[in-house]
Amino acid sequence: MPRTPVAEHEARVRALLSDLSTRASEVVALADALGRVTASDVVSPIPLPPFRNSQMDGFAVLSSDVVAVPVDLPLVGEIAAAPGMPAPLMAGTVVRIMTGAPVPEGADAVVPVEDTHVSGSTVSIARGRVSGEYVREIGSDLPAGAVVIPAGVRLASRHLGALAASGLTSVEVTSPVRVAVISTGSELVEAGEPLGPGQIPDSNGVALAAAVRAVGAFVIAEGRVTDVAERFRAVLDAAVDAGAELVLTSGGISEGEYEVVRETLEPLGAHVDVLAMQPGGPQATASYRGVPVVCFPGNPVSSQLSFLIFVEPVLRALAGLAPAVRTTGVLDRALTSQPGRRQFLRGVRLPDGRVAPHGGSSSHLVATLAAADVLLVIPEDVTSLDAGAAVEVWDL
Ligand code: AMP
Ligand code: MG
Repeated sequence: MPRTPVAEHEARVRALLSDLSTRASEVVALADALGRVTASDVVSPIPLPPFRNSQMDGFAVLSSDVVAVPVDLPLVGEIAAAPGMPAPLMAGTVVRIMTGAPVPEGADAVVPVEDTHVSGSTVSIARGRVSGEYVREIGSDLPAGAVVIPAGVRLASRHLGALAASGLTSVEVTSPVRVAVISTGSELVEAGEPLGPGQIPDSNGVALAAAVRAVGAFVIAEGRVTDVAERFRAVLDAAVDAGAELVLTSGGISEGEYEVVRETLEPLGAHVDVLAMQPGGPQATASYRGVPVVCFPGNPVSSQLSFLIFVEPVLRALAGLAPAVRTTGVLDRALTSQPGRRQFLRGVRLPDGRVAPHGGSSSHLVATLAAADVLLVIPEDVTSLDAGAAVEVWDL
């Protein structure tokens, strides 16, 4: 049987998830906003900085008083970084000023303390400063009413800092897609549990849940289930009852026995396919009680890459995030590829900037995947590439 083109499955997953595309938004406190994605442009109600202030510990001066240096000027006061409005500076005098303190009217520059010497109430200035030097103008970082964070930004600490600096306490973010992740396999135990003979830790659940969170979606349920149809159905039902908008499963869709996902969902109309790709041939999509289900094969590399290839781009778009960056790299060595398969080879970036395949292509090599930092994508019709050839690179 000819294998299904990767693009066809891509389109099927996209269509299955198209109902999720109208996302509501919600307002969350900054303390809860890390990793969320802005739903709209956020405007700063205040200018940044909010008032004209000193960039240095030193002396506020009128720049025209310090053109000819050295010069001695009377010290008439001190301004701390503290609440209050300082008195205007009289020409021909200086005032001691701290970093962040308001620059008085009449002053237009700050002479850093290291360029001065104080004796009594006289300040000797060794080096002049032109108008504006070491003065942070009001709104010079951002004017009031300007966009401080645009829509579609996944909020990191620096964004939260800018929002707080704008005096904001909350931010409007997209409502995340609520995802359930279900690992199937009677051989699975929760990571960390002692392993009996024939048992392995469930790594897909952990990896897929993390990958879901990494693109701004929420994991509302994580389940692990044996290859027993009633058990699988019960976990699916629980996920739907918990409000899952999307269910991701791993394992149980191949041609063997005990293919619990396939046995359960195929009679309900699941579309099960073998794709023209490596790793990750077997793939399925289904709808369970009206909720889209995307089913990945069980092998860890297959399931993780399948998420990356088929689901991650859709979740990114739903969260309002820009697509992942795909680049072109230069191969460090020649390679061959199976005809008729899109190959996703694990690779590494070398110190000289080139890329090289890393480890074998088998889909159980979970540690090798962890050691890779790129995927090299070899199209279906390419069977060999020479050293120095261009290759599509996805950063992991
Ligand atoms: P399956 O697709 O169910 O036939 O599983 C294929 C391979 O992936 C088998 O070696 C399974 O033991 C392994 N596998 C399936 N699910 C997981 C999982 N959640 N974590 C780690 N390995 C898994
Ligand atoms: Mg299995």
